[in-house]
Amino acid sequence: MGLRIVLLGVPGAGKGTQGKRLSQAYGLAHVASGDILRKHIARGSEIGLAISEFMEDGHLVPDDLACAVVEERLAQSDCAQGYVLDGFPRSVPQARQWDQWLAQRGEHVDAAVNLDVPDDIVVARIVDRRTCPVCGAIYNLRFSPPPAPPNCGKAGCNGILERRDDDDETIIRERLRVYHETTKPIIDYYGQQGLLIRIPSDGLGPDAVYRKIEDKLNALESA
Ligand code: AMP
Repeated sequence: MGLRIVLLGVPGAGKGTQGKRLSQAYGLAHVASGDILRKHIARGSEIGLAISEFMEDGHLVPDDLACAVVEERLAQSDCAQGYVLDGFPRSVPQARQWDQWLAQRGEHVDAAVNLDVPDDIVVARIVDRRTCPVCGAIYNLRFSPPPAPPNCGKAGCNGILERRDDDDETIIRERLRVYHETTKPIIDYYGQQGLLIRIPSDGLGPDAVYRKIEDKLNALESA
């Protein structure tokens, strides 16, 4: 049975980048709640209509809704071999509700990895963040530029890079405020259960951060 890993950290801490790498290296599904919610908005689904305003303002969507869309995704067959969750849970009530869902299935979280990066650094990172709508690659125009802008260029991908609507500085500051108020208490929630892995990531590139996570997870697997 594969690992169930939660990635924690402020918006822009690198959860998406590390989530993709972990999923490839450990054969885990990469489940990003923000991506699922953005797809609902793009499709104009009933859920999409209900959540677009929250997301545009940098606020969290209601807990019940977030749990429902993520749990629906986690019940799919590719998650049976384990997964890495990126962006969920985002509040202690979500973490509690999801723990009950897991317990009903005889499952549990194996590790919560907190990518610790100061706010000012993530603001600088996010304003220059660009993502590929086709293959999902994530770039930073300053720190990890795409090979062929405005195209993605990853393995011949022709997607035109996009900036997320909520990657605007005023909205980012609001997302950070929401994080400190509502999401940060989850660090203690997992700490109290002995599941927390702290990764101080300030000043480190994605490769160095990944190696630190890998060391800790490998130690966990061989314990
Ligand atoms: P992300 O892509 O993880 O930065 O999420 C983008 C936005 O999606 C957030 O600012 C929230 O509006 C919404 N969102 C993503 N995950 C959650 C969650 N677990 N709970 C509530 N809102 C979420």
